[in-house]
Amino acid sequence: MAWDFSTEPEFQEQLDWVEEFCRTEIEPLDLVFPGAAYSRDPKAKALADPLKQQVKDRGLWALFLDRELGGPGFGQLKLALLNEILGRYRSAPVIFGTAAPDTGNMEMLAAYGTDEQKRRWLYPLMNQEIFSAYSMTEPQGGSDPSLFQTHAARDGQEWVINGEKWFTSAGARADIIFVMCTNGMFVVPRETPGVEVMEYPALHNHIRYTDVRVPLDHLLGPEDGAKVLAQRRLGGGRIHHAMRTVAQVKLAFDMMCERALSRESHGKVIADHQMVQEAIAESYAEINMLRLLVLWTAWTIDNSSTREARTQIAACKYTCAKVLREVSYRALHIMGSLGTTNLTPLQGMWASAPTMAILDGVDEVHKVTVARNVLKSYEPHPGLWPTEYIPAKREEARKKYASLLAADPDLSAWADHAARATARGH
Ligand SMILES: Cc1cc2nc3c(=O)[nH]c(=O)nc-3n(C[C@H](O)[C@H](O)[C@H](O)COP(=O)(O)OP(=O)(O)OC[C@H]3O[C@@H](n4cnc5c(N)ncnc54)[C@H](O)[C@@H]3O)c2cc1C
Repeated sequence: MAWDFSTEPEFQEQLDWVEEFCRTEIEPLDLVFPGAAYSRDPKAKALADPLKQQVKDRGLWALFLDRELGGPGFGQLKLALLNEILGRYRSAPVIFGTAAPDTGNMEMLAAYGTDEQKRRWLYPLMNQEIFSAYSMTEPQGGSDPSLFQTHAARDGQEWVINGEKWFTSAGARADIIFVMCTNGMFVVPRETPGVEVMEYPALHNHIRYTDVRVPLDHLLGPEDGAKVLAQRRLGGGRIHHAMRTVAQVKLAFDMMCERALSRESHGKVIADHQMVQEAIAESYAEINMLRLLVLWTAWTIDNSSTREARTQIAACKYTCAKVLREVSYRALHIMGSLGTTNLTPLQGMWASAPTMAILDGVDEVHKVTVARNVLKSYEPHPGLWPTEYIPAKREEARKKYASLLAADPDLSAWADHAARATARGH
């Protein structure tokens, strides 16, 4: 029987180690030296690098990459189980070499890069010797790629890029930027003349590219292939976000349950009030629905491809935003006034729910994708009645019993009576 919801013991051991490591090593680092894991400061690196080394020694570095590319080759299902732990801790993804936006960019490089491009950019990215960003969205509109204008013109042995991008996460500190142009995906070193990072927004950068010249071999994948590469990149990124969201909503749920058992109001612990119980029960069901959707999608990717799983990935994308919104709100509410402060993770989690509904494509666009793809396996019914119109189906079914009904008038009368009785119900 192939349906199995258990984890093999050897991998469970790895998960247990990761849980313990995150709790005893990563969480204290996050609390005392926030941002150290991302920093290039030598003192911060001296704190974070030994943790990264422990992860490497354990064979858990760059979890999302296949074995031939230097990752452990676990596949997406195991990655989902690991991300259910990592997603709880702010810098766990970077300590494990699986942080966005680098992961998606690495997947794109792994899938489309030449050997030379992989040598130059993929392996240094894997080792966090360099960091990257992804420049796709433009100020005039992000949801519709047909509105994008950034273009690369060929001039001798170089491409000359002109355009303007908006909300390039970590663009200001990236060494290389993957720039989506109308005619291809280009790798642009940030220090290249003509790359101008604006002052605002601080984290997700507004960048102007003015006569930016890169050599011909900085085109990634085929000319005019940017949309295909973007789908490859964003598909992976979306499912990884959904995996980490499962971790976040479980954290919110744990906080909600602990609090429900710890406070009293009107003569009983608040866990005994039915509306609190409803919040817990709804959250429990929603978290598990999301989790199963994410695991099923990961399993589908492992058994086919990101492309084959695109409808499921799109469903994960808006479902994770919705469950994050619902569960973090309920947890914050049950925490009372403390929940509205930044003294617990809940306020940040609640604030991140609208962000989750926008990043990697707004929910509306993903819902359209799901509806369109799902509808491809349906057809309109012929004639006036839907396929499930019972009188028509019954007439059809009676043909199967035609000789029996003709031979037995009592049975025929019984069938007529039963049909009328059923119809009278409405
Ligand atoms: C935290 C974060 C990180 C990001 N990182 C990056 C990054 O690294 N690189 C990058 O290139 N981009 C990045 N983005 C940008 C992101 O991809 C865009 O914000 C997103 O694609 C939406 O584009 P927009 O903001 O221009 O919104 P718009 O396209 O203007 O959409 C705004 C609203 O219009 C409505 N709408 C739009 N289209 C439709 C439709 N087809 N049907 C129904 N309603 C619709 C929706 O209500 C939507 O929310 C990031 C965004 C966030 C929030």
